[in-house]
Amino acid sequence: MIDPRRILLKLGWIAALVAALVAGFAPAAAQEGESVAPPGSTTIHIVQRDENLFRIALKYGTTVEAIAASNGIADVRVIAVGQRLLIPNAQGSASGVLITHTVAPGDSLSALVARYHTTVDALAGANNLSNPALLTIGQQVYVPQGADPGASPPGATPEAVHVVRPGQNIYRLAVQYGVTVNALVRANHLTWPAPLFFGQTLRIPGVSAPERAVDLPYPLLDAQFQPLPAAQGKTLGIRLVTDGTAQISGAFMGRSLRFATHDSSQHEAVFGIYALAQPGVYPLTLAIDAANGQRTEVALRVQIDSGGYSTEQINLAAEQSNLLDPGLAGAEDEAIARVMGGFTTQRYFDGMMGLPSAGAITSQFGTRRSYNQGALSTFHSGTDFGAGPGTPILAPAAGVVTLTETLSVRGNSTVIDHGWGVYSGFWHQAEIKVKVGDIVTPGQVIGLVGSTGRSTGPHLHWELWVGGAQVDPMQWVQQSFS
Ligand SMILES: [Zn+2]
Repeated sequence: MIDPRRILLKLGWIAALVAALVAGFAPAAAQEGESVAPPGSTTIHIVQRDENLFRIALKYGTTVEAIAASNGIADVRVIAVGQRLLIPNAQGSASGVLITHTVAPGDSLSALVARYHTTVDALAGANNLSNPALLTIGQQVYVPQGADPGASPPGATPEAVHVVRPGQNIYRLAVQYGVTVNALVRANHLTWPAPLFFGQTLRIPGVSAPERAVDLPYPLLDAQFQPLPAAQGKTLGIRLVTDGTAQISGAFMGRSLRFATHDSSQHEAVFGIYALAQPGVYPLTLAIDAANGQRTEVALRVQIDSGGYSTEQINLAAEQSNLLDPGLAGAEDEAIARVMGGFTTQRYFDGMMGLPSAGAITSQFGTRRSYNQGALSTFHSGTDFGAGPGTPILAPAAGVVTLTETLSVRGNSTVIDHGWGVYSGFWHQAEIKVKVGDIVTPGQVIGLVGSTGRSTGPHLHWELWVGGAQVDPMQWVQQSFS
């Protein structure tokens, strides 16, 4: 005797597979695992990376409980990537296409809602946001794109909008956007001749909205942080644009942010994040002083990720244990930190840095070190190059030599000031080929590799300080901060 319910169940599976296949091949609507099934049938969803049951339920317009019950899931927090889930009563793409977005400065919930045609509720739900006002720069948010059925469909290109600033007129705007004056007048139902007023919002016909929907307090026109998310031991580049002349100061992670300003409205800073800083969310504050005396204070939140550094155990013999005595090296460390903590408004570095040695890298920056089974309280503060004694050391970027000394720990040492609070240190040299005050050019020979000071063999230790913190020099070889 055949149980009719088993046949029904089988038919349901076949219908679900067909539905999944159709959805998989359908253009436009085809997104990972998404499918639309007729009422009463079952949809199969294959769990993707970064998904949880809440997001899957949201995607199909069903509930976590219903999915858990259909799949015999006891703990709703535990699902595996690649796991097949039966989705009962799937409502199709009720909440649109789920995409990820890395929060940048100026991103607000309202800016994201406008850009992705979604709703505040859908955004808050997809990200379990208890306080939707708190977005963090560098945070990855899940955006149910197209969740707002009243907005234009996802994929439709939003039109650019321009907020009129003092001194702007319709002729200048037409030139700026490459459109005709007539098109601007028609698109905005202006009367001719069209006087514009400060703060007026104009649609720019035929010009799509910029990639980023920024929502920044005036007089800030743009803010960019690179790279995001920021991480331990890395440099964070900050570029701000103000409407007109302004002075900017700021603070982050207990230190001041120093900006270099050019063309009176472009402000740039580079900030070194301590390699041993706890990953988490840190407030970043800016004070913008406009030429008219108006001060605007901006409070941002920035996420710091782990730098992913490895750890190593170093065992020192009894006769080497004086290396662990902090008092011995302390005075030298303090003197170096003072030199490296300066700030020169002139920028000497330009584009990516070069390598200071042709030798192979023998030790990376950031490796956590524990001595004789102690705590992982120190880290490798630079990049080591294994090179033969007497091989040349090259300036990785232009700068001014600010220190040449023979130190007990670092041996023959040279420090170059690259400007904007960026300093290079070169330790353990056999010979120093420059003197204080010299202006060096990129690639210039500044010394020879050696093994002076506390060193176990010839190598170059290249150290980079940014805003008073030691950072990974190799980031500067791969990324330009100018
Ligand atoms: Zn080293």
